[in-house]
Amino acid sequence: MARGTSDITVIGGGVVGLATALGLLRAGRRVTVLDGSDSDFRASQGNFGLVWLQGKGAGFAPYAAWTRDAVAAWPGFAATLGDLTGLDLALDQSGGFEFFTDPAEFQDFAAALERQQAHLGNRFTHEVIDGDDLRRSHPQIGPDVVGATFCPLDGHVNPLRLLRALRAAVRSLGGHIRADAGVRGIAAASGGGFDLTLHTGETLGAARVVLCAGLGGADLAAELGFATRVRPQRGELLITEKLGERLPFLSSTIRQVDEGGVQIGGTKAEVGPDDRETLDVMAGLARHAVKVLPALADVRVVRAWGALRVMTPDGYPVYARSPRHPGACLVTCHSGITLAPLHASVLADWIENTETAPDLEAFDENRFALSDAA
Ligand SMILES: Cc1cc2nc3c(=O)[nH]c(=O)nc-3n(C[C@H](O)[C@H](O)[C@H](O)COP(=O)(O)OP(=O)(O)OC[C@H]3O[C@@H](n4cnc5c(N)ncnc54)[C@H](O)[C@@H]3O)c2cc1C
Repeated sequence: MARGTSDITVIGGGVVGLATALGLLRAGRRVTVLDGSDSDFRASQGNFGLVWLQGKGAGFAPYAAWTRDAVAAWPGFAATLGDLTGLDLALDQSGGFEFFTDPAEFQDFAAALERQQAHLGNRFTHEVIDGDDLRRSHPQIGPDVVGATFCPLDGHVNPLRLLRALRAAVRSLGGHIRADAGVRGIAAASGGGFDLTLHTGETLGAARVVLCAGLGGADLAAELGFATRVRPQRGELLITEKLGERLPFLSSTIRQVDEGGVQIGGTKAEVGPDDRETLDVMAGLARHAVKVLPALADVRVVRAWGALRVMTPDGYPVYARSPRHPGACLVTCHSGITLAPLHASVLADWIENTETAPDLEAFDENRFALSDAA
């Protein structure tokens, strides 16, 4: 079968696949992205849009450092996407809070930030703020908030515009994106490379593949000999009517999008492949928001949705080369918005195995095999 005109075929056209494709294009490769269909689970279309460092990698130093690098790379990445596409991602990295109404959770998180601080040294800074002190600087915060942590490096972005910009940027650099081209089967070809079978029955050749299909990539990962099994984790979100005034803060559960609505989220549920929103979780989100910022009680909710996170067994990214099939890589992670600048740049060096490639050994999937054996 012909190997096609691309050097590399990326399977999956969400934020992770498109950012990876963009990096490879910038490295001079010819790239095709095969994406699935609208009925697929798509975390990139339902996420919260945080570019977030606080708490990330407290228990795993390589992830703390990788996330720190990503946050630092965001301004340049947003500027590059702006130059390539004319789109403004509404990146705001002026710091963010985690708010707590439970004293034990507050203490635990503050301790986690100490561990993260130890990993990152002077590349990280954070504050732990008692509830009364918080209300002195932010009188709008409700009396149920017992404390907060603040990291000046945290921020957010418009995630749907990011997705749009990535698609446009990939195309502007000559990448091909095929929609409704879900891959149903993959096999090593006798003369090298891979034979891909699409859901339509069409077959395509690929010289090399990078699997970035999120929750839809499980069967393909197994066919390529990867051990990683991702699972869905549901998050639910609310968005309010647009407000004329800006919120006085950004937090990991309450943020005002650049268009004016207030997005409320942060729930986690292990419910399998079910992305429906539920009334009790919605009510809980609304209660949380009003506890943090009582003024939100008067604001109307206009939309609610659920979306599935793509979770690896330990929640950290996987960057792996197929043990059985040279030329096949697996790239999957949670926090794909935060990590996008690295996926669109240095990850290409790792895929190409250049001398300047970052050391991503800590993110290899052999960590699961080792922990399974333990
Ligand atoms: C509720 C929620 C909140 C989140 N909040 C944040 C946040 O604030 N900050 C942050 O950094 N991250 C956040 N995330 C995580 C982030 O959204 C994900 O890490 C990221 O979107 C994952 O992108 P992806 O491309 O791997 O997966 P997806 O977006 O799921 O994309 C996978 C793509 O692959 C395609 N596909 C599937 N199967 C196949 C196949 N067989 N062949 C070809 N194509 C296929 C699908 O059609 C889809 O387009 C959140 C996620 C959720 C669900």
